[in-house]
Amino acid sequence: MTADKSITRRGLVLILSSPSGAGKTTLTRNLIEKAELELRLSISVTTRPRRPSEIDGVHYHFIEKDQFVFQRDRGDLLEWAEVHGNFYGTPRKPVEQALAAGRDMVFDIDWQGTQQIVEKMRDDVVTVFILPPSMAELKARLVRRAEDAPEVIAQRLENARGEISRWALYDYVLVNEDLGVTFRDLEMILHSERLKRERRVGLSAFVDRLLAERC
Ligand code: 5GP
Repeated sequence: MTADKSITRRGLVLILSSPSGAGKTTLTRNLIEKAELELRLSISVTTRPRRPSEIDGVHYHFIEKDQFVFQRDRGDLLEWAEVHGNFYGTPRKPVEQALAAGRDMVFDIDWQGTQQIVEKMRDDVVTVFILPPSMAELKARLVRRAEDAPEVIAQRLENARGEISRWALYDYVLVNEDLGVTFRDLEMILHSERLKRERRVGLSAFVDRLLAERC
């Protein structure tokens, strides 16, 4: 039997966090659109109003607050948090199914959700924080996006400082100056994490066979 067939891998969860406007959503989309990376996006539920460019069931599952509370209290959410005055949460089932099948998932969630996931699934989680190159650039990106009202932008900028102050909770921290460079860094992180000894099922049996081989 060859090494390739006998060594498989457990699925992992790649978590990306950043303040709004640092480029995380674009990076996440680019990751899932690159088919050979074989990453699936966890689609969150949220009580936030849908933006014009967003599609229900693709970017989020947009739900009412009472539905959110029902799902949360029934234990359907792996984690949840209140962010910018709205509720967000990660549906549990698709994640458990993906990991059990050895598939990897990417999460675009805030630091509060990240902490909950890390506590529950430490060995299967890789966390990355994306920083903007400057606060001025962060503001410019939020204004350029032009999908939120001015008071929403002001609130997000205010909250950005609190979000950024959590940077040291993360395994990797990238400054997103150039989207292409940051994307390549993310690919390298993913690739290296996939190769980690602890994630590779059958490696120890392979080594045993290797050592038993007489030549
Ligand atoms: P936005 O409203 O701009 O789409 O997202 C606002 C913030 O909520 C972002 O920091 C995003 O990462 C975070 N977020 C989105 N979905 C979830 C989720 O399921 N759980 C948590 N904890 N945060 C989320």
